[in-house]
Formats: sequence, C-alpha cells, structure tokens
Amino acid sequence: MTRRLSLSSEGRAVSVYLHRQDLPEDVRFSGLVAIDTEAMGLDPQRDRLCLVQLSDGGDEIHLVQILPGAAPPARLIGLLADPALLKILHFARFDLAMIQRHLGVLMAPIYCTKVASKLARTYTDRHGLRDVVKELLGREVSKEQQSSDWGADQLTDSQLLYAAADVLHLHALRERLDAILAREGRTQLAQACFDFLPTRALLDLAGWPDMDIFAHTG
Ligand code: MN
Repeated sequence: MTRRLSLSSEGRAVSVYLHRQDLPEDVRFSGLVAIDTEAMGLDPQRDRLCLVQLSDGGDEIHLVQILPGAAPPARLIGLLADPALLKILHFARFDLAMIQRHLGVLMAPIYCTKVASKLARTYTDRHGLRDVVKELLGREVSKEQQSSDWGADQLTDSQLLYAAADVLHLHALRERLDAILAREGRTQLAQACFDFLPTRALLDLAGWPDMDIFAHTG
C-alpha cells in the first residue's frame, strides 16, 4: 500500500511516496542516494526505527515505514547494504547506528554532510541541517515535526512532508560542500573521516558512545 503526496520547494515539484514496511520492487537507485531516518527517540538501543527516507536527487522521494513485528524489509535492506551506492546523510553516525541495530546492516560507503560542514565551514559552529541548507542553498527547512510520534501507525501529511524535506537538499549540499573542501585542500581528510563513520557507529552501539578513544586523558 502506497500513499502519494506532493511537495513543492522553490518551484521544484516533488512526489513523496509512503510505502508500508518495504520498498516496492520497481523503485531502484543507482550511484547516489540521500538517506535520513526517523525513530522513537535518539537512543538506538532503546528506541525503535520508524521511517527511512530515500532520495535520488530527482523528483521522487520514497519513505519506508518500518512496522513493529513485521518481516524484515528485504528490498530496503538490500539497498542499504549495496556497496555500489554512496549514501549521503546529515549526521550519518546516528542513522548508521540506528540501521545497524534495527535492520542489521552497516551502511557503506558514506558521505556525511555534517562532518563535511565541520571540515569545510570552520568560520561557524552552526552545522545543523537547517543552518547549512540556509547558508549554502538559501532555502528554509521546517523543524516543526522533528519531535513527533514517528511510531504512529498512520503518519500525518505534515510528518511525511517534514520527513521528505530532510533528504530533499542533501545532494545539492554535497556538491557545495565538496567545492569548499576541494578549495581548502581537505577532500582527502573528509574522505578518511567518512570511511571511519561505520566504525564510529559500532563504537556507539558497543558501549563507547561518549568517550573519545583518541584522547590523551582517561
Ligand atoms: Mn529527519
């Protein structure tokens, strides 16, 4: 069962599809996919994964609702596990841990727009998705539904549009951030950080969520 909504952003018309439990067979991605997740809370050990949002940068965004007690979403898991797909996320560390814990997949390779922003935009400490999108793309993203009940069986239209908006700009953001990283000579440093992110997520899950294991102290 699929529900369809329309989202328009700065003259760009995007169709948002909600799929219950798994992607349909005819939805495919190649090369690059922007991903975000919504969960019951911020603790991957405690909180359930509720929604996975996917965008190929084109005019369709696909949302997969993860229903409690249902069979594992095999097609979604296959996509997340595909090493030929570069996954673009904002604060990938959280989604990596959430997806590893609840779908059993450690995603790779990764591009994190938050890590890229921290390495590229050293003139500011504002690296939240809304701040980065506003500065680099001149667009506003709503924060309205961020803390809502993502575990609800019937998600509201405004929840779905909010969730879709979180993946809408990630492709464009990556291009802008890559240009700054290249200009500042930090492309390889950023790549090495992205490559470490799956391990960082495993440390979160294994009991080192707050400790800097590279620090001298402790
Ligand atoms: Mn989100």
